[in-house]
Amino acid sequence: MRMILLGPPGAGKGTLAGSLKTKLGVFHISTGDILREEMKKQTKMGQRIRALVENGQLVPDSIVTSIIKQRITRVEVRKRGFLLDGFPRTEKQARYLDKILNKINQSVDYAFYLKASLPVIIRRLTGRLVCRQCGALFNIFEKPPVKEGVCDECGGELYQRADDNEETIKTRMDVYLENTKPIIEYYQSQGKLISLNADQDSEELQHELMTVLHDANKHN
Ligand code: AMP
Repeated sequence: MRMILLGPPGAGKGTLAGSLKTKLGVFHISTGDILREEMKKQTKMGQRIRALVENGQLVPDSIVTSIIKQRITRVEVRKRGFLLDGFPRTEKQARYLDKILNKINQSVDYAFYLKASLPVIIRRLTGRLVCRQCGALFNIFEKPPVKEGVCDECGGELYQRADDNEETIKTRMDVYLENTKPIIEYYQSQGKLISLNADQDSEELQHELMTVLHDANKHN
């Protein structure tokens, strides 16, 4: 199955994808995670990406589309399918995705739209902690680690993303709102859009998605 997670920063795309990838046996591909890995490298490209990401701006299409093309055309990804998190972010990227998939005789099955309200988003983003080692996600308000600053999963160090501060969150929300409507309409017109209530906690959201998916597959 090939699925996309759409929704504002803080809607819970990463958390949801983290638990669904095992359940559905698909690859979780997060452009944000891949870009953050690139930022760690002391290259010109890494520095260029860092300047944009840390200011809440989009990274140029030429960079993200080549990342996506390289991942989704891998043999094992073609076989098992994927869950895209953070891509597409613009209608142009959505069209590009269709173009690459078309070339390998595949298409997107579902686009899940995670709808969340602003107070919930702010709380999730300002409280978010990420494990430096395994990428596990925590939240100081909703899902604190057992031991402060330490990952429950692997014992790695937890950190706060540089772009999870109120000022950058505002820019990221503006960028998101400017680009969302056309993408939502794009998938809606293809009959692939499924809206979910992302104000719920991650377990409830996952349950809602699985129920909808189950019903959709029954009718196909
Ligand atoms: P995320 O982890 O999805 O919140 O992404 C973090 C940041 O990475 C975003 O604010 C952008 O700067 C950049 N980014 C991630 N995905 C994309 C994309 N599809 N297009 C452009 N920039 C992206």
